[in-house]
Amino acid sequence: MRVYELAKKLGVSTHELLEVLKDLGVETKSHFSKIDEETADTIESILSSSTKTEEKEDVMERKVMEQQKEEEIKPVKTQIPLSATVREISELFGLPVSQIIMTLMDMGILANINKEIDQGTISKLAEKFNIPVETSQPQKTRLAGKLRIQTTEGDPRSPIVTVLGHVDHGKTTLLDAIRKTNVTATEAGGITQHIGAYQAEVGGRKITFIDTPGHEAFTALRARGAKVTDIAILVVAADDGVMPQTVEAIDHARAAEVPIIVAINKIDKPEANIDRVKTQLSELGLIPEDWGGDTIMVPISAKKNIGIDQLLEMVLLLADIMELKARYEIPARGTIIETVLDRGKGPIAIAIVMEGTLKVGDLIVTSGMYGKVRALLNDKGERIKKATPSMPVQIVGLPRLPVAGENFTVVENERRAKELISQWGEETQQQREVLSLENIRLRIDKGELKDLNLVLKADTQGSLEAIEKFLKEINIEGVTLSIVRRGVGNISEGDVLLAKASKAIVVGFNVETELGILKLAENEGVSIKIYNIIYELIDDITLALKGLLKPEKQELILGRAEVRQVFKSSRIGSIAGCYVLDGKIVRNSNIRIKRADNVIYEGRLTSLKRFKEDVREVTSGYECGIFIEGFEDYKEQDIIESYTFE
Ligand code: GDP
Ligand code: MG
Repeated sequence: MRVYELAKKLGVSTHELLEVLKDLGVETKSHFSKIDEETADTIESILSSSTKTEEKEDVMERKVMEQQKEEEIKPVKTQIPLSATVREISELFGLPVSQIIMTLMDMGILANINKEIDQGTISKLAEKFNIPVETSQPQKTRLAGKLRIQTTEGDPRSPIVTVLGHVDHGKTTLLDAIRKTNVTATEAGGITQHIGAYQAEVGGRKITFIDTPGHEAFTALRARGAKVTDIAILVVAADDGVMPQTVEAIDHARAAEVPIIVAINKIDKPEANIDRVKTQLSELGLIPEDWGGDTIMVPISAKKNIGIDQLLEMVLLLADIMELKARYEIPARGTIIETVLDRGKGPIAIAIVMEGTLKVGDLIVTSGMYGKVRALLNDKGERIKKATPSMPVQIVGLPRLPVAGENFTVVENERRAKELISQWGEETQQQREVLSLENIRLRIDKGELKDLNLVLKADTQGSLEAIEKFLKEINIEGVTLSIVRRGVGNISEGDVLLAKASKAIVVGFNVETELGILKLAENEGVSIKIYNIIYELIDDITLALKGLLKPEKQELILGRAEVRQVFKSSRIGSIAGCYVLDGKIVRNSNIRIKRADNVIYEGRLTSLKRFKEDVREVTSGYECGIFIEGFEDYKEQDIIESYTFE
């Protein structure tokens, strides 16, 4: 029986049941995990007889008190193994087997003397007997498509789904097929325009689809911090099987901790081989349900419209399990997913409301600007008065085009809007700050990050495994090391984008990369480190985690300029009219902007002008115009520092 089925039977939510299972120490990966009949029965009896449990607790307490007395004599800490049989535990704890079995039963686990018990349960047992323990810290690993239960309060909202997969495997065809059959045509003639997202209806319930397939789009949104996907549908063509971008897509979904549903597409083709796809996916850790795993896989033909209803049902089932919720009665917040400049309406932001209700007349702030919502249109282009959570909506009324991937938020007045806009520059700067091995510890200590995430590329499978083995042995308090991608081969554009999206550092061993990719990494603020000696790699990472790695390059300040006047251009944004105080300001150099001695922005000088002319540098005593892409919020007397590295 599966967790969600048992939950249904017992009339509790799957979420509650999972909690109970967790308390009982029964290991369940997800709501789809199977539980054996014994366990199911035990749970049923536990949930239906709470009085009996209380009595047992009394007995427990007495036992524990006795134990405590004993403990004073033997305060040595017991090492908890990763797993052990009941017999071994009895030896370890110095308690009779019968007592272990009884206590396990109290915990809802039916065990005989040879039953293998996992570490978590052994720890709980030890706790019950009040035995002091020492657990070796297990390496944190990211579970395959682990379900993240959204526990936000509020009322249910529809799931937001992104379709990922290798090129030509049928993402667009699938999105079109769903749109054709599950989007009710408008009375005006049934033409649904593509606006970046749409809502499909299945059995009276809605699913929001992000209409720009492919993990680049997914990643671009995520790189800016947006979390607009609840569920990823991974399309794999049954004739072609798992391809490089399939693997990439899995990495991306996992890094985002978004659960995956697999659509095995093109099953109408004679060459289709569903089992082969399942085997290939199993090798990547996505094990189909019918093989005892917990990944939902639905065979479909997007072209012939086969299996699509089942696929959508599975999406809804998973959504139920995730208990997606949002508050409706608060000012709206959401994410911009696309922008369009419309001749008649002006700049249009296509957004998804994540929380609250967006109304015509609301004042919204996004991408360093604000505007009053003049009109709202739904995914069919119809005018609406308000948009609620998970709804895609076109927002008319912003003064300029916002940035896709930015969040928007409704504010009460212009004062608050301006306040938020001034913070925006700083937040963007934080996001842009290059994450490197040299500054990782600092960023962790500041609370900006929790883990060191690595994208690890090596020349051979052997060296990859060796490096991973060494990395696993690094154990430094306060930080966990996670490998978001491991692979054999040169560092690619995809590696950089994944690193960007998951705040990771790219580390290579005996591999190469191209100039174009280095440039991309630099632009995206991703750091790449390549090693030829394993020990150097391991040493550097150890030092980095301790915060002891010194930067290789020395910074050299080229010159400083003061902002004297700010020009707003509707076309490109703000330009700072500056006076060079000392040294020189150099185009394309690194820059930092200081306000009252605080650094408020770091980035790159995009364009430098003297009068109308583009120039390479401007020396002290002269005036110049400075444009920095991504920064708008200049104030007079800001200091712009131009620097490079030696
Ligand atoms: P995308 O690159 O993943 O968006 O793939 P497309 O949706 O553009 O599809 C690529 C090609 O595969 C097109 O020629 C589609 O007609 C074809 N295709 C998509 N789904 C199916 C299917 O279920 N069966 C068959 N036979 N062809 C399909
Ligand atoms: Mg396509």
